[in-house]
Amino acid sequence: MSFSQQQSNSLLPSFDFSDCEDKPSNLTGLNNQGATCYLNSMLQALFMLPELRREVFQWQCPLLSTITNIEQAKTLDLSRNIPYQLQKLFALLQETDRLSIPTTGLTKSFGWQEQVYQQSDVQELYTILLTALKENTLGSSLNETIQGLFWGEMTNYTECQTCYSSRLRRESFNNLHITVKGLSDLAQGFDKLLTPEIMSGHRNITINIERNER
Ligand SMILES: [Zn+2]
Repeated sequence: MSFSQQQSNSLLPSFDFSDCEDKPSNLTGLNNQGATCYLNSMLQALFMLPELRREVFQWQCPLLSTITNIEQAKTLDLSRNIPYQLQKLFALLQETDRLSIPTTGLTKSFGWQEQVYQQSDVQELYTILLTALKENTLGSSLNETIQGLFWGEMTNYTECQTCYSSRLRRESFNNLHITVKGLSDLAQGFDKLLTPEIMSGHRNITINIERNER
């Protein structure tokens, strides 16, 4: 696989995934540091998003552009720079001949030590990682891609069935809780999520709506 400047200008990334299924040996694994399998699954899923991978590779670490001499380069510490460590990890995943590679550079950038031995919640880590990536890449095309791919906006509308006071609340989200149990597919899950609900306890809810309006 190659990644040239010319190819990177096209709308679609230059990665060719067509042979991945036939040749699973082309793929590289991530070492489990103790209890980081949930982290590894998430990283592999993110790595397989062509738009994200392309932008991660194109991102230029601002700290690197400040370097003018070798002495500065020697003292530059990028160990806590999350986007830089992710870029390094993605580069290794794509280019290495090894069967698997470590994730220690990335977990150290999170400030993790003992945490690698604790099972955590993948959804929580997903939010932490994407938020950190967004905050540390401000003004870049990578930042816009992360915002566009992983964040959406939803509107919550609540209306009182007695006095018809209403409340409209917009909020951004980067994950949705979708029920799948008992449903045949994800589309049904979305339908269920968007089905209006009648909430009981009229008094509490109306008070909230009406208080909000003032
Ligand atoms: Zn009311």
